[in-house]
Amino acid sequence: MATGGGSAPRRTDKCLTCNENVTKKDPAVSCDVCLKWCHIKCCGIDVPTYETMKAMENIRWYCDSCVKKILKLISDVARVEEKQDKIDEEVGNVKELVERTRSEISQMRQETVNDLGGVKQLVEQTASGVSQLRQETEKEMESVRKLVEQSKGDILQLQKEFDMVKQSKGDMSLLRQEVDKGLEVLGKQNRDEIMKMRQEMDKSLVIVDHLKKWDINKEVAELTNAFVNDGSWAEVVRKHVTNEMKGVKGDVEEQMEIERRRKNLIVFGVPESETGNDIDTVSDIITQALKLDFSRHIESIVRIGKFSHEKARPIKMIAKTFEGKREILTRAKMLRELDDYKGIFVAPDLTRKQQEFDKDLRVNLKKIREAGEPEAVIRSGQIIKKNENGKTISVLYPKPPQQLGGK
Ligand SMILES: [Zn+2]
Ligand SMILES: [Zn+2]
Repeated sequence: MATGGGSAPRRTDKCLTCNENVTKKDPAVSCDVCLKWCHIKCCGIDVPTYETMKAMENIRWYCDSCVKKILKLISDVARVEEKQDKIDEEVGNVKELVERTRSEISQMRQETVNDLGGVKQLVEQTASGVSQLRQETEKEMESVRKLVEQSKGDILQLQKEFDMVKQSKGDMSLLRQEVDKGLEVLGKQNRDEIMKMRQEMDKSLVIVDHLKKWDINKEVAELTNAFVNDGSWAEVVRKHVTNEMKGVKGDVEEQMEIERRRKNLIVFGVPESETGNDIDTVSDIITQALKLDFSRHIESIVRIGKFSHEKARPIKMIAKTFEGKREILTRAKMLRELDDYKGIFVAPDLTRKQQEFDKDLRVNLKKIREAGEPEAVIRSGQIIKKNENGKTISVLYPKPPQQLGGK
């Protein structure tokens, strides 16, 4: 604050209230903010107060206008400070949020790293497992491969043995004929034992025949293919074993059937007897036509099938011995030349399979004869022709699959 007399106002200064000049002599005060002058009587200051103010140093005086402005300023500052506090608080919140977020991100990153570590470990373990599994599988494959190689050797060895067995088949057939002869000689004594022996021998012959038909090389090739290509070798082995079992079983059953019919003959074309007694008729054929002793050769006779007026039923005739049966069959060829026995013929008692085979043979014989071999004949289940010298023969139709026993 300046007062008149001390720091004298300039001539141009006017009172901010009355707008008159403020001279050096006028008692007046100046505003510490706007520096404008005011007569003391214009701004309400009495003389003693003016004197006191003049005497004090550092006393401040503000005009009304400036006081208003200052108050407003103070209020504005207070508001700004309030705002600043709020902003600081907000900034604090945001900072905290950022810190928290940063911490969370850090934690998440750590967790992710941990997870990745776990996954990586898992992948490594899996890869290691797969590798081990592959190694084990390869080992397994290798051992199976070796096994198949070894089996090949075993099968080849087996094949050699089969070949030896095949060769021995002829010997066995001869041996059986010897047994048949022995049977005739020994009569009832030891007969059952020898019969059993002969049956066993027949079964062996069937199995040998079966093995003969078994194409081992083909099966080994098939087995190897199955192993190499799709690993189905176990299934192939099972299939073959099953087939072989079936084959052997079927052949043995057929052989037993043949054995049951071994001494049987079928007589066709004998008229049905009015008295129901066929013995006299059959006895007449055996004795008069074939010149054989009926009671010594024949065990029993019986009509087979259903009676009909149109056609005579065949007669099943059981011979006492296999040799006797063969003798009857050989001599029965004469019946064709005897007028009294026209239409009567004797045949072996064949199984269904043998009948089918027999029919097939006759069909083929007809074809072969028509195709320019009129001399072809059926002998022991084959179609053959004698050569010019009459001794050597050519087989025109393959060997039968079944030619044991019976005939
Ligand atoms: Zn004034
Ligand atoms: Zn002022």
